[in-house]
Amino acid sequence: MCSSSSRSVLLNTGVQMLFLGLGTYKLVGPEVVYQAVDAALAAGYRSFDSAAVYRNEADLGRVLKELLPKHGLTREDVFITSKLGPKDQGEGAMEGALRSLAQLDLGYIDLYLIHWPGTQGRVVTDQRNPGNRAESWAALEKLHAQGKLKAIGVSNYTPAHMRELIQSCKIPPAVLQVEFHPRLCQTELRKVCEEYEVCFQAYSSLGKGELVTDPVVLEVSKNCERTPAQVLLRWAVQQGVPVLPKSSNPDRIKDNARLFDFTLSDTDMDRLSALDCEHKYCWDSSEVV
Ligand code: NAP
Repeated sequence: MCSSSSRSVLLNTGVQMLFLGLGTYKLVGPEVVYQAVDAALAAGYRSFDSAAVYRNEADLGRVLKELLPKHGLTREDVFITSKLGPKDQGEGAMEGALRSLAQLDLGYIDLYLIHWPGTQGRVVTDQRNPGNRAESWAALEKLHAQGKLKAIGVSNYTPAHMRELIQSCKIPPAVLQVEFHPRLCQTELRKVCEEYEVCFQAYSSLGKGELVTDPVVLEVSKNCERTPAQVLLRWAVQQGVPVLPKSSNPDRIKDNARLFDFTLSDTDMDRLSALDCEHKYCWDSSEVV
């Protein structure tokens, strides 16, 4: 079962994954990555979410090697996620995952995800997509067995992609990472994850920054004397969903981490959930066969 303590959730691999991680999409360049990771480690973040397509794996790995000793930490104190690029889906998967391992150069990756159910450069209806996904998963299973990828999972999979994977895999996915916020409550996907004991993880919890000005979010924020971002992140973690807010701003990074010392009332939780209108700020995988 995907059970949770106050700060972390137990994955089906037996490893704990923290509820809070720093999103790193658009954190590019050594100085930007250094400043954000330094602020995050100081604020208590121990988890970082990267991807081959973010083009920051090498900088993240280098910066962590420099900053961990400064913060009195070791490699084992942090949890690093990365993702297989959609261009490497299928026969390029083993090479793509090995490239991520080499770029990060941290010995192993704590969680490695198939970023996207399709394949870059192919139409969403390409009938080779399911075969490519299966080939990628088999590569990830091999690297998991070798201890190089401690946990493996998927991202942007629909309920149909999840069922296909569960029925064919040797090792079940530990995590599904998808867009999740009050305007996109993902009811069906959450049920599938619960059924198959897969940890459901949120990305774009702040709606890429746009949800912090939503009138309902602002009202709840005023009621509980917390920032709109904290309200949005708390709404997710209070439902047992880990979050990955991205910021390049040290003050916001610190602010976004203050999630575990307050509770939203049932009324405020319900008001936020009532905003659900299946709105996506990110990419939409529903057409990928
Ligand atoms: P997000 O976390 O929803 O929002 C980030 C935006 O909000 C940035 O523009 C940031 O600007 C702003 N922001 C951050 N904290 C704020 C605060 N306290 N008040 C006001 N604005 C604030 O967006 P996201 O980057 O799309 O998602 C988060 C992470 O999830 C990504 O970085 C990535 O790691 C992951 N992700 C994964 C996928 C996938 O396909 N698997 C897709 C999207 C995202 P500043 O930087 O200027 O603070």
